[in-house]
Amino acid sequence: MPVFLSYSYLISAILLIFSIRGLSSPQTARKGNSLGILGIIIAIGATIISNPNYNWSNALIAIFLGAIVGIYFALKVKMTSLPQMVAIFNGLGGLSAVLISLVEVISGSSSFFNNLIGLVIGGLAFSGSIIAYAKLQGLIQAKAIVFKGQQAINLIFALATITLCGYYIINHNPLIFYYIAAITTLLGILLVLPIGGADMPVVISILNAYSGWAAVGIGFSLNNVVLIIVGAIVGASGAILSYIMVKSMNRSLISVMLGGFGTQTNTSQVNSSDKTAKSGSPEDAAFIMENANKVIIVPGYGMAVAQAQHVLKEMADDLHNRYGVEVKYAIHPVAGRMPGHMNVLLAEANVPYDEVFELEDINREFATADVAYVIGANDITNPLARTDPSSPIYGMPILDVEKAKTVFFVKRSLASGYSGVENPLFFADNTIMLYGDAKKVTEEIVKTLEQS
Ligand code: NDP
Repeated sequence: MPVFLSYSYLISAILLIFSIRGLSSPQTARKGNSLGILGIIIAIGATIISNPNYNWSNALIAIFLGAIVGIYFALKVKMTSLPQMVAIFNGLGGLSAVLISLVEVISGSSSFFNNLIGLVIGGLAFSGSIIAYAKLQGLIQAKAIVFKGQQAINLIFALATITLCGYYIINHNPLIFYYIAAITTLLGILLVLPIGGADMPVVISILNAYSGWAAVGIGFSLNNVVLIIVGAIVGASGAILSYIMVKSMNRSLISVMLGGFGTQTNTSQVNSSDKTAKSGSPEDAAFIMENANKVIIVPGYGMAVAQAQHVLKEMADDLHNRYGVEVKYAIHPVAGRMPGHMNVLLAEANVPYDEVFELEDINREFATADVAYVIGANDITNPLARTDPSSPIYGMPILDVEKAKTVFFVKRSLASGYSGVENPLFFADNTIMLYGDAKKVTEEIVKTLEQS
């Protein structure tokens, strides 16, 4: 490899490592993103400059068209639909790996093992991501789709893949390679179908890791160092993120991958027809909160849907500046529909980072709070996760909002959240429901706070 290219790839790899590091905190995320873009531009630019005799026109047209499509969708996508977009990106990464390994095989490449890695992992990432996308987009039911003998079929497909891979490495028959492509694509679909409800974020993260490892396989096939490094960074960071997420949901990777989440018929679910939930008005909420010492805000998916973060910040400012109330924000690791979803929205509304706390840092404080203002959140507060072993969310750590003197739930109805499990907290003595759109209700509260 020419020296210029080696150094360029090295710089690109260093930039990408710092990019991932930057993305680990909201304060540095923008810088991290820019470093990543720069790293990729250097890698592509150096590759082109170092191979001046190659006809780059087709590749440049593809890059140009891909960039236009990518920029268009990135600008257009709603914050609540970002997980779907990530799923599609993972899928495209997997598909590229599959197509490159097919082209390599057709053109007689002798990197048999590496091509197989690109094909198998890329195939799983591709079809698995399409199913994840369809579930998140509501094209197919988000709940676990299970049928009899599913695990056995998956096992047969997995064993068939391993056997065929061994066979291909020995006899190099391209036909076997195509069979493997078909089986892994089917296996990806079958593996993600039974995963549902609250496990989808972990699946997206695992598929992200898969697309990275598929790139590593292709990097070895093509003998391209930067692809190996970038793939390994994506693969490792995706794997670490998956681990952190299952840990924060108190689940194991194996139980997520085996699926079935959200399919149990839950015997101890709340029967809402037996109970009544108290409801209040925004004026009541304003009165209680302006007389409080400490208010903890718990944002969830509904805040994102309603885009209530700006008015929420106004409410917090009014409470603090006009009434001297201490206001903090509590963030659950899987609040919303993607990791860091709430942090991004609160940062967009200029909520100071030192008012925003992770679950383990704030959970103890609910006991000393006068009010928990739960805005568009549901599953992440559901005490069944703590008390009911038959509940599909059992074991997920939750924000202990019920320990506050008064709990306000801002949502439009008593409907359940993403996991489909009813929340008994709506009927607790210290809970007051504030029915309505999160933004409208909070606007009414702000109006009252500013009038009184
Ligand atoms: P939930 O999905 O549990 O609850 C959100 C609530 O918001 C709903 O019950 C809904 O009730 C309410 N809501 C919807 N729109 C509005 C609106 N316009 N105004 C007011 N309320 C609204 O969300 P949580 O954030 O509590 O929990 C996240 C869930 O999503 C977890 O189960 C998690 O595992 C899962 N998940 C998380 C991902 C992540 O990476 N963070 C990715 C994918 C899934 P109503 O209809 O009555 O208004």
